[in-house]
Amino acid sequence: MNIFKKSKKEENTDEFHKDYGTISNCIFILKKFRKYRPSLIFFLFAGAAAGASMSYLWSFIGKLVIDMIERQTAGGGDIMPLLWLTLGTTVAEFLMMWLNNYANIRLDVGFTYVRLMIIRERMAKVMTMEYETLESPDMLDRLQKAKRATAGDWQGVQGMMTYMQTMLLQGVSVITAITIMSTFDLRIVPVIAVLSLIQFLFFEYIRKKDKKEMWDAMAPHWRKLEYMETVATDFSYAKDIRLFGMKDFLSAKQHEVNSIELEHWKKSRQYWIYNTIFFHGIRAVSQVIIISWLIWGVVENGLSIGNFMLYFSGANTFSGAVTQILTSLSGLRERSAHTDDYRSFMDIPTGNEKGIHVPTADRYTFEFKNVSFKYKGQDTFALKNVNITLNAGEKLAVVGLNGAGKSTFIKLLLRLYDVTEGQILMNGTDIREFDRNEYYRLFSPAFQDVTVFAQTMAENVSMSSPANTDKKAAEEYLRSAGLGDKIDKLEKGADTQILKILYDDGIDLSGGEKQKLALARALYKNAPIIVLDEPTAALDALAEYRLYRSFDDMVGGKSAVYISHRLSSTRFCDRVAMFKAGELVETGTHEELMALDGAYAEMFRVQAQYYTEDKDIFQINDKKEANINAE
Ligand code: ADP
Repeated sequence: MNIFKKSKKEENTDEFHKDYGTISNCIFILKKFRKYRPSLIFFLFAGAAAGASMSYLWSFIGKLVIDMIERQTAGGGDIMPLLWLTLGTTVAEFLMMWLNNYANIRLDVGFTYVRLMIIRERMAKVMTMEYETLESPDMLDRLQKAKRATAGDWQGVQGMMTYMQTMLLQGVSVITAITIMSTFDLRIVPVIAVLSLIQFLFFEYIRKKDKKEMWDAMAPHWRKLEYMETVATDFSYAKDIRLFGMKDFLSAKQHEVNSIELEHWKKSRQYWIYNTIFFHGIRAVSQVIIISWLIWGVVENGLSIGNFMLYFSGANTFSGAVTQILTSLSGLRERSAHTDDYRSFMDIPTGNEKGIHVPTADRYTFEFKNVSFKYKGQDTFALKNVNITLNAGEKLAVVGLNGAGKSTFIKLLLRLYDVTEGQILMNGTDIREFDRNEYYRLFSPAFQDVTVFAQTMAENVSMSSPANTDKKAAEEYLRSAGLGDKIDKLEKGADTQILKILYDDGIDLSGGEKQKLALARALYKNAPIIVLDEPTAALDALAEYRLYRSFDDMVGGKSAVYISHRLSSTRFCDRVAMFKAGELVETGTHEELMALDGAYAEMFRVQAQYYTEDKDIFQINDKKEANINAE
């Protein structure tokens, strides 16, 4: 148990984990202060100076007062200077107390502010990381650890800040004490330091024992208690507990765990009593040594009573400060290990460090060349040797059974994942060479699993702040995606908040409504390539029909990739790409593929029955639409 030596860390095999060390982490924190709130550095020092002076003020003034009284008793004289000194000291103490408190408040608030900014940096980092990496369990673990380092005011980074503050204050106290004692005799300093070290080592011993035997050993019992709490209060258990009369049985079980906890507490209290006894024992030894040292000073060197007081208080403050520095150092090192987790996470490359600009062009052509792809941790290829070109302005229908690789094809085109083999070219350049964010701007996507955000409906379309939202355009697109009736029914129209998580008056949308919203979102973005992944899966037949009908209008002359398991979508696309078990098996127009009589034709025939239904729906809907228009 040596706090000065690096404690044995659990073996860390994570390639991204780095041990930065406590000093480097302290510098890291100071740099964050400088970046976000430079005044904190001033208040750290001002608070430490004021705090340390307060602990010495009265002992120093006490010495002056006693010296004065001694002089006056010897020769008589004026009492006024004494009164002035006392008054002046009281004012000085008051000012220092004020400065100390003021600095502490500024530091407390400032530390929290800096921690919140550090959290913001972490969240910003997560949002710029490669999509693919966020799927990996290792990365999620790293993220979890980085979160823990910013979780509260006593943990990780903010814990370090608080310990740095304490150490600075106690450091100033120690230097002041040594300076005072150097005017007499410094030999007492190492003696007190050793006694404080012994006191601290015993404290550490008890702390670790308590942690192991109380907190760590109790963890499974607390889990049980938590479970029982859930069972007793969770509505879903309520029926069984009542109808099977389980109350007494569960209460008895809880009592059993309570007894275990009480035993642990008793043991824990005992340990801390030992610590208190030991602490006072060492303190008594220390006092005896200090007093003997001072008596020796009086006898041998004619130490005045004033100085006796001064050195006595100096030695005691020194002793307390050394113990506190050691305790803080131990806490600082513990928090520093968590700060390592945070910094290691922040240092992971985002994968978008250096990319070339995406050229502005009138036409964008994409070419898949021998593309194969395997998801991380999977043995089989989700896509195998795909070769296809998406010409500018072309509308491509991507079809195939579930699991055929349609979504994977799109994810590669959007560069949410990078190919495992082969390459994807955009106007002749490998898409991996481009700046990721610029590349993303080329696409207007609508995914089947639509995510809505806790913001207004219009902002859910613009996907931007209110200031950057063209509300009129957003509403127009919402209407053309089929949400006109919905908006008209809402009191605040497109300004209605979605989700209740941030606003009580927020609304929820149905699956179909969300899909329409996603379409409006894609149209609003107005990017050169529209990518729609099963955009009609949650739509009712009429809505789907309307979408098919207006598809050409919506897309205009842009390129579009349209995934659908319903083959009826192929009727308004220029070309069909048929995927089967990860392979692109056929490409051509609907007629060409029917003539080929391969996988597409087979799938078409299997769906023929639904087609007939679809056709019926189309006919019915055509009539409905005609009636609506006639009205
Ligand atoms: P489709 O869109 O044609 O239904 P997908 O492209 O979603 O098919 O899936 C192709 C294959 O890849 C399937 O076997 C699927 O289980 C697998 N797959 C899809 N997404 C992931 C993922 N994130 N991790 C691992 N395997 C995946």
